[in-house]
Amino acid sequence: MSASYDASPAIPSQELLDRNAAYAENHKPKLGQHNWGNFPKNAIITCMDCRLHPHKQLGLADHDTTIIRNASGAVAELTNTILATQKFGTRHFMLIKHTDCGGFYITRENFVEDFKAHAKNPDALNDFAGLTVGGFKGLGIEAVVLRDVEFMRNSPLIYPETVISGWVFDDSTGKIRQVA
Ligand SMILES: [Zn+2]
Repeated sequence: MSASYDASPAIPSQELLDRNAAYAENHKPKLGQHNWGNFPKNAIITCMDCRLHPHKQLGLADHDTTIIRNASGAVAELTNTILATQKFGTRHFMLIKHTDCGGFYITRENFVEDFKAHAKNPDALNDFAGLTVGGFKGLGIEAVVLRDVEFMRNSPLIYPETVISGWVFDDSTGKIRQVA
């Protein structure tokens, strides 16, 4: 393993396999109609950040909600996944972004500069039409939440009865607050 990954456990490792074996002893399956006939009506869309633990931080049980994540919880990039959950019955999307998000620390410029310094082919990004990495561009977290909530509420792809709410998780207090 590279020394730069010392902060994380080695994956794969026998230690993780042992932990999984211990988990599996009490695992409760939820298969077939038991799952697909009871698909969660709520989905949480949130950031991939390791400080966010929606089940723990909102007191949710294992099967209460679907979790959809990417960098900063950017909904436009997640449209395919959002539509898939909609097909299976989800009618409330709870968007949770958070304070101190990586979106405040990344810009298109510093991202491209970093990529070019490490990539096998520094010009490979030129052929990636789907690139949306670029940070929050000076917006506050509430404004970013409002922007993405409006994007979903205005989307003709989201069913009209669907509820979309927007929230901020504050890592300094552990509390969430609703902003939309
Ligand atoms: Zn984040």
